[in-house]
Amino acid sequence: MRLLIANGYVIDPAQGVNTGKSVLIEDGRVVGLLSHSDDVPEGCEVIDAIGLIVAPGFVDMHAHLREPGHEYKETIASGAAAAVAGGFATVCAMPNTDPINDSAAVTRFIIEQAENARLANVFPIGALTKNSAGTELAEMGEMKDAGIIAVSDDGHSVPSPGMMRRAMEYARGFDLPVIDHCEDKSLARGGVMHEGHWSLVLGLRGMPAAAEEVDALRDCALAELTGARVHLAHVSTRGAIEAVRRAKEKGLPVTCEVAPHHWTLTDEAVADYDTNTKISPPLRSRDHIEAILAGLRDGTIDAIATDHAPHHADEKALEYDQAPFGITGLETAVGLAFELVNQGVIDIERLVEVLATKPARIFGLENRGTLRADAYADVTILDPSFQWTFDASRSKSRSRNTPFAGRTMLGAAVATIVAGRVVFLHPGFERLVTSERKALAKGGSR
Ligand SMILES: [Zn+2]
Repeated sequence: MRLLIANGYVIDPAQGVNTGKSVLIEDGRVVGLLSHSDDVPEGCEVIDAIGLIVAPGFVDMHAHLREPGHEYKETIASGAAAAVAGGFATVCAMPNTDPINDSAAVTRFIIEQAENARLANVFPIGALTKNSAGTELAEMGEMKDAGIIAVSDDGHSVPSPGMMRRAMEYARGFDLPVIDHCEDKSLARGGVMHEGHWSLVLGLRGMPAAAEEVDALRDCALAELTGARVHLAHVSTRGAIEAVRRAKEKGLPVTCEVAPHHWTLTDEAVADYDTNTKISPPLRSRDHIEAILAGLRDGTIDAIATDHAPHHADEKALEYDQAPFGITGLETAVGLAFELVNQGVIDIERLVEVLATKPARIFGLENRGTLRADAYADVTILDPSFQWTFDASRSKSRSRNTPFAGRTMLGAAVATIVAGRVVFLHPGFERLVTSERKALAKGGSR
């Protein structure tokens, strides 16, 4: 089975490619990059990507797929469908399911469900501590043998520096990155939004930025002490980003990600008590957003991750302080990342880096996040000039809890290819796929 993605503009930061090329794929792997003037090899299905950007398949480092246990919110299959519809070829599944993914059995179950769905690649993240209770280390070695690519108690914070130190030392022995949700509970407990002007105005209990910052500082210090690879999830504060910047200056193996809602919305969005603005960490004030944009610009922030967190409409219909934290994000992340490009914060090469190159590298996903010869043929095709409006009612996710319903965006992932199979084509772009070589001979069919 051969596939040629012809006439596109290939951006692959991993190999420094940023030029017009065609991508030849065979048996699920990249064969290599061809010149546009090369003949179409025999027996190829062709995607005509003229005017489009061809990037390595995007990797979401942080999603909650809810299965096992909360299938009414999301299943691995529905989450994988939302992932590919959003341009993600790969999605990494956080362990806070029911049961928690703290065993090889749950890890294997997730991988099996993903294989049955045949959409996105799904890599499970194992729990750091048993039942993510923060008291006893989980069996990281068994889970790694079963297929986890990192460990985290995301959704919970690790309660004590001593526990985190032991977890980092243990994870280091298995060469697993430790992902931390930085939120000191003694500071944040009871809070439902960012602590500041708007929490006072609205009369809602706030979580101070310091709750994130003290854990970020702790984790950076422990990365230095233990030598473990540490990845800070969804950083949202100036202080956490500054901590990562200083750790990097020291040469420590510390990385971080940011989620699109954290630069797109401020805490003012909470003003109408829409529970689709209730997230942990919370939407922050303008000053923190400026720090996020600076971190995206200067490379302190390594990756954009969705923190896709589906919840049922009935749960989100509760009072603001009763509703669960989290919003969906797989189908809006790329469009919101393009807003950064359109505002001149980052260029498209950096967009590909933070959505594909770096996430694959941080999690050690070999032969992914690049279109190098012999890499897995995971590809995301982008149209930077495609204007679209997010229709949440047509989301592939089982849940609809998003503050971005009805938002019009410029730039989208229009096709997603996983292991050489086209698993998503944006409605309206079906014309891209052709087996007719003569359409190309005329210089493109569009
Ligand atoms: Zn989290």
